[in-house]
Amino acid sequence: MEYKSIEVSWIFETDLTNMNAGEGSTNLKEIKSYNNGLPYISGQSMRHALRSSIKREYKDEFKCTPEFPCGDIENCWTCDLFGYLLPSSGDKRWSPIKASPALGQIRYPITNDLIFRMVEDIKCPNCNKKFYPLEGRENKSVKIKKDETDLTCPHCGKKSKAPYDIRQAIAYKQLIKNIYKSNISIDLDNIGLEEVPKISNGKLAGVENIASIATEEKIKRIIAILNGIYNLSDFANQSREMVNASPDLVIIGLQKYYNHRLASTLKLDEDGNINTEQFNSVVNDALNLEGTKIYVGYIKGVIKNEKDFIDSLKNLNNHDEFILCEGPRKAFDSAIASLTGDSDGSS
Ligand SMILES: [Zn+2]
Ligand SMILES: [Zn+2]
Repeated sequence: MEYKSIEVSWIFETDLTNMNAGEGSTNLKEIKSYNNGLPYISGQSMRHALRSSIKREYKDEFKCTPEFPCGDIENCWTCDLFGYLLPSSGDKRWSPIKASPALGQIRYPITNDLIFRMVEDIKCPNCNKKFYPLEGRENKSVKIKKDETDLTCPHCGKKSKAPYDIRQAIAYKQLIKNIYKSNISIDLDNIGLEEVPKISNGKLAGVENIASIATEEKIKRIIAILNGIYNLSDFANQSREMVNASPDLVIIGLQKYYNHRLASTLKLDEDGNINTEQFNSVVNDALNLEGTKIYVGYIKGVIKNEKDFIDSLKNLNNHDEFILCEGPRKAFDSAIASLTGDSDGSS
């Protein structure tokens, strides 16, 4: 394989949500935060979302779950791509996918959402009329225990036992909108590969592969990871606060060296302006490493100083190995095409 690593750095803008709740107290779902109130989504949560996103497209390739790893690197994507620790034998594998937490960049205020579960009417077993159980309860407790609490029917006046536990639930959930910056790096050499020291006559004689896969299969796994990043969506609280987590601005580096250099490109200030000077100098530095190819795509309207940013992208576009694509999806497609030896698909 021509490349050693792929670095993907991206930002995504969300509306009000709570994608990764912190500790909180019993009735408050807090937002995880850093630096005095900026929200973040943990690296563990990012990896979980990535695993779910890949698994959705390649269900049969995941032979086990992270809780019960099988250790079959050649055949199981759970174990190969996400690593494992087998407590019984102490056998472990570092994941070739490294993820950073997604860091919120803008200091927006936090909103508190009231979560309220209404108590439903129940039916009187005597007169069959419906009544509101919190009206008919014996004492004023909000907890009505099944078979223990007497309820008096307001229609016929007869008492009956509560048919099930009845409880009015009130809780608070913190929500925030933001623009998050996130990074994932893929260690290409180590996909589908497991090496151990080779001992001959009691001496170290190089390393031995105990697992390896064909290049074609390796490329299939890499493409699955890249598409998984584009399709990221499996975060907490999405049933009621669904948001987009697909990249709005993405930079993808195919590199012949392994490093995380491009992870420091997309920093925003608290007003949502990208630091174009830093962006330019990091990208130029990465391009100075022989063989690096960089693909960039963005959705309009996310970055505040978009005009300045586009100017610097256009300047970089004069560089042969910097490819400005029409949108994030095209950037992923072009990087994938370059990996599989098709034309770059550059615009
Ligand atoms: Zn497995
Ligand atoms: Zn009744």
